[in-house]
Amino acid sequence: MTLPSINAERLLTDLTHLGQIGAGADGSIYRVAGSAADLAGRDWIDKTMRVAGLHTYRDDIGNVFSRRPDSDGPWLLIGSHADTVPGGGYLDGAYGVIASMEVLRTLHEAGHPAAAHLETVAFWDEEGVTPESKGGLVGSTALAGHPHVDDLIGYLELHVEQGPRMERDGLELSAVTGIVGVRRYAVEVRGQENHAGTTPFALRADAGRVATRFAAQLRDICQDVDDTSIGNIGSIALEPNAPNVVPGLARVQAEIRAGSEKSLDGIEDELRATLARIAQEENCTAELRTTSAKPVADFDSRLVDAVEEVCLHRSDRAERMLSYAGHDASVMSTRVPTAMIFVPSTGGYSHSNLEHTPDEQLVLGTQALLESVVAVSALMLKQDIDADHSLAA
Ligand SMILES: [Zn+2]
Repeated sequence: MTLPSINAERLLTDLTHLGQIGAGADGSIYRVAGSAADLAGRDWIDKTMRVAGLHTYRDDIGNVFSRRPDSDGPWLLIGSHADTVPGGGYLDGAYGVIASMEVLRTLHEAGHPAAAHLETVAFWDEEGVTPESKGGLVGSTALAGHPHVDDLIGYLELHVEQGPRMERDGLELSAVTGIVGVRRYAVEVRGQENHAGTTPFALRADAGRVATRFAAQLRDICQDVDDTSIGNIGSIALEPNAPNVVPGLARVQAEIRAGSEKSLDGIEDELRATLARIAQEENCTAELRTTSAKPVADFDSRLVDAVEEVCLHRSDRAERMLSYAGHDASVMSTRVPTAMIFVPSTGGYSHSNLEHTPDEQLVLGTQALLESVVAVSALMLKQDIDADHSLAA
């Protein structure tokens, strides 16, 4: 059967409606998980789907689900998170939630067979703003540990890119191949505190010089090992931190992100070797310690291929890309075949009231999600759905 078209007006109206729940005077949105506004947003999502004739329910943590009343699984799950950072934008999380609601309603209304095995989710607390949320991804982590995850055949998430790459490259849609792994390091350099006037350069053990030479190498090391990787020196602290004293101690905090563990290992090896070499040249000792390591999330190649095919069919400005920010999809990918779709973020802004994507790209992304749902359902359920890409009139 032909593919139904999403209702663009309903999508944009719903997005505006959710964006008004918890909005401050300047348009910044305050729907931190568990806040009154967050709960009101979830109630509205729940009610909207019930009014559309769908069955809704919530799990113990607060994730809101919906599906067809006669649906008995297994399910392809689609969604994103309904919470925001304090002063967030109207698209981060909300776009994927509203788009999923639109896709299920459209397929349900059209009597499309893919609707029978489709479930939507508005995840609880992705952002992890409050101390009790321990870094976020709370709702997806709870689902990944719940028996319901065994009823799922896959997870698809539509999201705004939250960065400037797609806009820079003129892209409308991206098939996301995975989420970068993130490693953080604490570097400690020990030298000898001494008089900054009387001690010649060659006779110093300058911990500060080791730290700054090392910091200056980070970009080149990332670029040389894997030119899609990225890194940051976020902090340099010197002791005793005075203009006339050669620093005897330096502490550096560094972070690297890359799309494969191999690249992360390669960058880390090179960072260690570079630090050891510089420390030796400067008569100091140095240690690099890993303080945290978030693994790479590799999405399912079958789902990524299916999503990419849909994106390329919908737009001649579509490509594959890595996600450099974390998402619920990274947690879901540890349990079920997972993929994501990105649309561009105007100016690359996110977690801000400047967050924006043109309406026509929001509509295009949602249609791409619908077509990806049909393609992935056919793939995973071996459903006899004729996934031709012609749209109904
Ligand atoms: Zn998000």
